[in-house]
Amino acid sequence: MGDVITLIIDCIKSAASTIKNSSKKAKQGMFAAIAIIAIFASLSFTGTRIAYEVNYGGRNIATVSSKEQFNEALKLVTNMVESKGVETVVEKPTFSTTIVLSENINSTNEIANAIIDNTDAIVEASTLYVDGKAVLCAEKATLESALNTRLNAYKPSDVECTSRFTKSISQENSYYMTSDLANKDQVESVVNELEVITELRKTTDVMVPYTSTVKKTNEQIIGYSAVTVKGVSGVNRLTQDIVMVNGNVTSCVDVSNEVVIAPVNEVIVKGTAKTLASAKQKQEAHAAGFIFPVPAGTWRISSYWGDGRNHKGIDICANGGTSIFAVADGKVVHAGWKGDYGYCVIIEHASGMRTLYAHARQVCCSVGDTVSQGEVIALVGTTGQSTGNHVHFEVIVNGRRIDPAPYIGLDK
Ligand SMILES: [Zn+2]
Repeated sequence: MGDVITLIIDCIKSAASTIKNSSKKAKQGMFAAIAIIAIFASLSFTGTRIAYEVNYGGRNIATVSSKEQFNEALKLVTNMVESKGVETVVEKPTFSTTIVLSENINSTNEIANAIIDNTDAIVEASTLYVDGKAVLCAEKATLESALNTRLNAYKPSDVECTSRFTKSISQENSYYMTSDLANKDQVESVVNELEVITELRKTTDVMVPYTSTVKKTNEQIIGYSAVTVKGVSGVNRLTQDIVMVNGNVTSCVDVSNEVVIAPVNEVIVKGTAKTLASAKQKQEAHAAGFIFPVPAGTWRISSYWGDGRNHKGIDICANGGTSIFAVADGKVVHAGWKGDYGYCVIIEHASGMRTLYAHARQVCCSVGDTVSQGEVIALVGTTGQSTGNHVHFEVIVNGRRIDPAPYIGLDK
């Protein structure tokens, strides 16, 4: 700087001595030159200089040292923007001369950025790469929103989970011309094709049904059934790791299955006895000498005495029309319809004991008849309160119904 000033002072001195010896016109020219030199000298001395303000799109966007600097910045913009034909969207600037501090002149990079910032047709955008291959470019926010929506598409609302794309997805930001960007619909149609893996840990309370145990007892009649311990379902807490691809479960692994409430297993007691008659009662029954009321080989017992529903006889199933025999000699005291019994025969035997045969299809005797043991008195049917062909057989002693089983040999 000192050298420049010395040089300028020398110039002025030499000019001044020249002026003394010059014509008027030459003197004027000399003074102008000196003035210009003086201006530059003072600019140089104060650290200021002449520069240009760049007016771009109606705004001053930068200060350049020369118009060439703007052109260099423009070249830089062309390199910074991925799109082709950037020159077509860059406006023509105007320049106005200004005096600024040297340090206030923008760098070429700053000018390039100012051009981009002030050109609506150029935006910063993201390129989407799928497995390293560029697929599209779009506004950063549009792309990120579409990717997030896709990732969350299969997330259950009630469980925490993680989602990722099957393919490797990356984004790179750069400058593009807006005309080169994919719109929202185009972005979504590409992004929504991406396969999404969702992984979650799910806990579910699962009902555990109780099991039933049957305990057989000879202290109850066949047909007797009672729940002695009520079954209560349990609850297990099942934790599973679930993997879904596009919302479809592709893997489900049990992590734990912990008992929250243990089930209470049901216990059912079932009777196995054909009769509960005492030895003495059996002996007395055998002494009566009854035969079985239907032919051998034609029957099966569907219901014993008592049987848990207070059954007051024995139900002997046989085909409709099967003969019903008088179990002992006696006198018919009822032969015909008897309410729920349907067609019914009652025979009175010696010692006042009676036997009753109900639900017959047909009665084959009349009141007052004397019948012999084994005589056909009726045919098996399902009349009255009955759901199928059978004989409801009763033994009545002194007007009281008693268990018929030992009387017809069903106690063995
Ligand atoms: Zn019955």
